[in-house]
Amino acid sequence: MTITIAKRGSKANLLIKDARVFDPERGVDMRADVAVERGQISSIAPVGKGRSPHRGDAPEATDSGASGAEIIEAAGRLLVPGFVDLHTHLRTPGREDEEDLTSGTAAAAAGGYVTICAMPNTEPVVDNASVLSSLIERAEAEASVSVAFLGAISRGQEGIRLADIWDMAEAGAVAFSDDGRPVTDGGLLRAAFQAAKLVGLPLVLHCEDSDLAATGVMNESEVSARLGLAGIPCSAESAAAARDLEIAAYEDARVHIAHVSCVRTLGHIRRAREGGVTVTCEVTPHHLTLSDEEVFSLDANLKMNPPLRSEADRQALVEALAAGDMDCIATDHAPHAPQEKETPFEEAAFGTLGLETAFPVLYTRLVESGGVPLERLVAAMSTGPARAVGLPEPALEEGEEANLALIDTEEEFDIEPARFQSKSRNSAFSGQKAKGKVKLTVAAGRVAYRL
Ligand SMILES: [Zn+2]
Ligand SMILES: [Zn+2]
Repeated sequence: MTITIAKRGSKANLLIKDARVFDPERGVDMRADVAVERGQISSIAPVGKGRSPHRGDAPEATDSGASGAEIIEAAGRLLVPGFVDLHTHLRTPGREDEEDLTSGTAAAAAGGYVTICAMPNTEPVVDNASVLSSLIERAEAEASVSVAFLGAISRGQEGIRLADIWDMAEAGAVAFSDDGRPVTDGGLLRAAFQAAKLVGLPLVLHCEDSDLAATGVMNESEVSARLGLAGIPCSAESAAAARDLEIAAYEDARVHIAHVSCVRTLGHIRRAREGGVTVTCEVTPHHLTLSDEEVFSLDANLKMNPPLRSEADRQALVEALAAGDMDCIATDHAPHAPQEKETPFEEAAFGTLGLETAFPVLYTRLVESGGVPLERLVAAMSTGPARAVGLPEPALEEGEEANLALIDTEEEFDIEPARFQSKSRNSAFSGQKAKGKVKLTVAAGRVAYRL
């Protein structure tokens, strides 16, 4: 696996004063001064208590501020391990009008992300080592956060022949996925599990029975009936997930279920886990905070696949997150050109942006209004996703490379897509009020974003 480490800018020298240092994996929740020297966390010390003596092979400690470090007055703002997104559509190569490596990683940094994993449903599809290698090369020059790339499961994502799994694994793929569409052919999925197992990488599955989903454009429910829109039943997801998990179990292979949207899918995942299957799963910010009732507005930015589900499904997803059954939150960041969304709902493209709004909407709707403890949210956005696919885990610990985000949880702001770093504007959260604005992101020891 190759993680392209952001190399833009120089290694940071910072003194972040009086932050609420919050790293749930390490049981840390304290007011402290955090020093970053040459990109590395050199000390985490009680406020005003200066620096702890340097230890191990950490860089030589110097007095606060005296080393020429930039001082950042955090004043109790939340300092967390940087976020990791397993599900970003960077639209590169092919649709650089919607997103590219520069804008996509800038959007990630603005959302507090230090690492993102790019989906392979590009033009051309990332289904061989040469496309993958050229992307890795481009990321080295253009990315402001770390990037890992998934390879496709099938050639051209056509679902007929296996893509070059071996070669792509060697070239640095982090996982394999035909996301954007399901793997319909069970025999092909089986072969993909066998190949991925041999190279030690997971498959990331977009579970959808295309015949059940048919021409649906939203969740099949009372809402779709009232709107007269074709629905996508939950069974389109849960039936496919059940089959995919059965094949994974038989092959004893690692599987990650993308964007779980229904309570019945959750049931299949829980049972598979109990049966010993190595399954991880993700849920998106929009499925955690919005339901199909929002679709009465016929706002095309609320059209995504899987669709926004019932309020009961939404609540079940939130409970699963709070209980720790959901390994991670992934954005399914899906940029679209204006003409793909400025159409009647039925004709609009599926997908919403997610990187720049994930933490604020989740913090505001799930943590502030109760239900989900802050430690669950932070873990599901940082260490959870890293662990699911074996990426390095961001940690607020002395001696670690600085991968962190500083967040203002007090000031309320309006979500305004016009101000996004992303090249696209199709946000399901446009116009909402939120708290949890990211003020600073340090990725791979370099300042990737500051407000
Ligand atoms: Zn998908
Ligand atoms: Zn996707």
